[in-house]
Amino acid sequence: MDREVTHERQIMLVAVDKPKAGLAQEAQAILTAHAPNAGGLCVGCYEFACMIATFPCSQARWALKAAAPCAAEGGRS
Ligand SMILES: [Zn+2]
Repeated sequence: MDREVTHERQIMLVAVDKPKAGLAQEAQAILTAHAPNAGGLCVGCYEFACMIATFPCSQARWALKAAAPCAAEGGRS
């Protein structure tokens, strides 16, 4: 029974560690999935959550910031 507890803990550590280690990779994966279609709607939101959202959706906005914080802030004007 002790083993099960240890195993569970390891999984939690990996889950906590992953976003920190691969933030840029995570952002890149989100940007790949959340892309605009011809009508300017997010394909990823519709595919994964059956949600209709205009691009950039909230996930894409987060990913853009995470991937390139400076570019995201300077590219508005
Ligand atoms: Zn989206």
